Amino acid sequence: MLLFGGIDPTASSRRPTFCALINEKFWLVKLKPCRKDAEIVAFFPSPTWAIGLDAPCTLPLGLGRCCMEDVPQCNCQPQNPWKGRIAERELRSLGIHAYVISRESFAKGWIRRGLRLRDQLLAANHTVLEVFPTATKKRLFPKSSWQLKSRREERQRLQSLLREWIEGLPTAEEHLLSHDELDALLAALTVLLHYYHATILVGDQVEGQIVIPRLYTTKSDLLQKPVLS
Ligand SMILES: [Zn+2]
Repeated sequence: MLLFGGIDPTASSRRPTFCALINEKFWLVKLKPCRKDAEIVAFFPSPTWAIGLDAPCTLPLGLGRCCMEDVPQCNCQPQNPWKGRIAERELRSLGIHAYVISRESFAKGWIRRGLRLRDQLLAANHTVLEVFPTATKKRLFPKSSWQLKSRREERQRLQSLLREWIEGLPTAEEHLLSHDELDALLAALTVLLHYYHATILVGDQVEGQIVIPRLYTTKSDLLQKPVLS
């Protein structure tokens, strides 16, 4: 059985980070809150085909970890003439607004945690892919309007749409999943789509890329096609 992971990291172990694991038959294997970094890394069995991390895994060219201190003491300068990475710019051109990383970013604790988790997962011999659940949601369900009255309604809709992809999820009436749980599932699903060659990469190979689904991907298409590599 092949396994595919997803993580929706919070900025620190004070708030739970949801981790998800699904298999190549699109079945939910595990969905659980973790706290400490070590607990997150230990959540994923070896081998897991790859793990989708919903946090920046790289920084804009020219910037370093020093720039991600709350108040940077360095003099690094970004190389791009715009703020953030090429990946975020390409997402924007696809109509998807992503968090932009810069020396002035306000969520630096979260950025630092994402980078740290990536390092630790790599050290544990895992393959890590940067994913963006909002993009996955918008690309997999482009016909669904996401301008809903409440966050609760949005979660209900997303959960019922995700049930068409992932087997073993409860209905929203049985148990409405949290926003963080849904994002962890979207992260894992993106990795599984990548395995089925149903994704594209946005961004620059050197600077860092984000995996997003191809538009109009359907599950029945994927299950009919042989996996090439
Ligand atoms: Zn710096």
